[in-house]
Amino acid sequence: MGAAGLTRTVDYYPWRPDVISLYDPTRDELAALLDGEPSYRLDQLWSGLYEKRSTPEELTNLPKALRARLSEALPLSLTPVTESVSDDGQTVKWLWKLHDGASIETVLMHYPDRSTVCVSTQAGCAMACGFCATGQAGFERNLTVGEIVEQVVRASRVAAGGDTPRRVSNIVFMGMGEPLANVERVWGSVERIHADLGLSARHLTISTVGIVPGIRRLATESLPVNLAVSLHAANDELRDELVPINRRYPLADLYAACEAYLSEKNRRISFEWALIDGVNDRPSDARELAMAARSLRAHINLIPLNATPGWPTKGTPPDRVAAFRDSLESLGANATVRANRGNEIDAACGQLRANHEISVSAPRRRPLPH
Ligand code: SAH
Repeated sequence: MGAAGLTRTVDYYPWRPDVISLYDPTRDELAALLDGEPSYRLDQLWSGLYEKRSTPEELTNLPKALRARLSEALPLSLTPVTESVSDDGQTVKWLWKLHDGASIETVLMHYPDRSTVCVSTQAGCAMACGFCATGQAGFERNLTVGEIVEQVVRASRVAAGGDTPRRVSNIVFMGMGEPLANVERVWGSVERIHADLGLSARHLTISTVGIVPGIRRLATESLPVNLAVSLHAANDELRDELVPINRRYPLADLYAACEAYLSEKNRRISFEWALIDGVNDRPSDARELAMAARSLRAHINLIPLNATPGWPTKGTPPDRVAAFRDSLESLGANATVRANRGNEIDAACGQLRANHEISVSAPRRRPLPH
C-alpha cells in the first residue's frame, strides 16, 4: 500500500464533511466520482474496495489514468505509526494517526477457530471510567463510518497476507471510545461491514458502558448484532463511582433497555465485569451480579483488571477470579473468565490510549502504580 496521499482529506464531497476515508463515500457518491466512465466501473471499484479489500492503485482491471485519479481523490485515512505484535504473533496492535493528527488503535486477534478485529469508534472517550486508560485520557472526536470500516479492511489485509492467511470473521466494537455515543456512524459501519465486507451480523459485537437511548435505538434496527454491556457493578452506589455515566442512566433504566433489546432481538446479552481487587469481587457483588444476569439470561465475561497508568487498584488474583466465577455458577449464572490478549503491548481491554510516548513496538510491561 503506497503511503502517498495517506493523510490528505477528500475534498470532492465538500457538502459532506464526514467523508474523510476512502471507505466513507456511499456507492452513489463513488458513482458521482466516476462520472463519464462506463457504468460497470462502479461495480469494479466497489467490489475491489470491499470484496478484495484493495486500494484503487491495486485494481489493475481499471485503466491506469483512472487508478491514479481515484488514488488521489480517495486516500486511505489511517497512517500507521506503530505495529506491535504479541502472543506469538497471534495479537497485533496498530497505532494509527488520522488526517487531523488524532490517533486511535486497532487490535487483531487470531484464535484457533476465528480471527477478530477490535475497532475504535472514537478518538479518546468521554465516559471517564477511572480504571480505563482511554477514559483517563479524555475525548477527542467521533470517528466517521469510513474510519471505522477502514480499520477492519486494513487489519483484514494483514491477516490475509501472513504466512498462514486468515480471514477476519468477527468484529468487536471494543476499542477506544463509546460506540453508542457515536451511534449513527457506528451503525453506518455495521451496515457496511455486513453488506459490503460480508461479515455476518451475528459475528459483530457492540460493547457499551450503558448508554440507554443507544441500546433502545439498536433494538429498533433489523441486524441482530450482539450487545455487550460493561457492567462492573450491579448496585448503583458502586457503579456511580466506577462508571460515572451510571448517574445519568442508573441500573433500573439500563436493565429495562437490555430487556427491550432481548425481547426485540432474542440475542443473548453479555455483561463485562473487570474484576478489581477488593472493590467488585466480594460475595455481595457475586450475588447482585448473578441476580441481574439470571433475570436477563445474560452471559458474564470476567476480565481480571488490566493495569493502566492512572488507576492504583490491582486486578483480582487468579485464584479468586476462579472462585468468583464458581460462586456465580453456583448462584445459577453463566460466567467465563476471558483470556487476556495483548497485555505486554498494552493492547488488552482498557489499555488503549494512543499515546505515542508510551506506545512501543517491543513488548514490555508497565509496572502497577502504587
Ligand atoms: N466504551 C465501551 C467500549 C470499550 S470496550 C464499553 O465500555 O463497553 C472495552 C472493555 O474493556 C469494556 O468492557 C471496559 O469496561 C473494559 N475495561 C476498561 N478498562 C479495563 C481494565 N483496566 N481492565 C480490564 N478491562 C477494562
